Amino acid sequence: MKTKVIAGNWKMHKTVNESLNLAKELHHGLTCPDHVDIVVAPSLTSLFPVADYLKNSFISVAAQNIYWEKQGAYTGEVSAEQVKDTGSDYVIIGHSERRQHFHETNETVNKKIKASLEYNLTPIVCVGETLEQREAGEVESILNLQITEGLAELSIDDISKTIIAYEPIWAIGTGLTASPDQAEEAHQMIRNMIASQFSEETAHELRILYGGSVKPDNSKELLSQPNIDGALIGGASLKAVDFIEIICSA
Ligand code: PEP
Repeated sequence: MKTKVIAGNWKMHKTVNESLNLAKELHHGLTCPDHVDIVVAPSLTSLFPVADYLKNSFISVAAQNIYWEKQGAYTGEVSAEQVKDTGSDYVIIGHSERRQHFHETNETVNKKIKASLEYNLTPIVCVGETLEQREAGEVESILNLQITEGLAELSIDDISKTIIAYEPIWAIGTGLTASPDQAEEAHQMIRNMIASQFSEETAHELRILYGGSVKPDNSKELLSQPNIDGALIGGASLKAVDFIEIICSA
């Protein structure tokens, strides 16, 4: 059985103290869960203190973004090596908010995935369609483009170290959730794309998370779909009690 992943994206919320308090609440409130990898992604200023506090715990830490260059004159950016150096082991790449507000493309996503793998950071690569694309019947073609271009030139070994998050943009932070059937259908499409572009076995092993208004009251049904291997959670990850309830439902 694949280990499920429950990841919390804290976005641009919380000061260092508030982030540490949330990390402490999670650490104390959870008993070491079997079959669930737990990840939290604080904002950049809290990355090191949270990773330092959680080191040797069963909760891992992710950055919300990296830049692909190793080092240099890139004011305001942070490299994969610098993120790894904080004690973090994961990085979220290509979140729709980054694609929308910071003009990230499948090509930059691809560069960031390669940089993360070089420094042993597990990339959580976000893909997903807008409402207009869904209504125009373009879900499969959009996902295919994001997967083909985003994962270009990666090896089977690289994919085995990668996590994909299917996050329909219309469901992020809106309170609208894809129905379990809609989510399962998209996850199955992604798995088929990985099978044809890499291998059946790689596709079978790949963990595909669902993200988009996951809450304690809908997580169980979503997480029991055969192709949903975990969740990427925004709003509900900011409250320890909700995040813990979602983890328990996995
Ligand atoms: C996200 O930011 O990845 C996300 C899924 O947010 P929310 O759970 O708030 O919809």
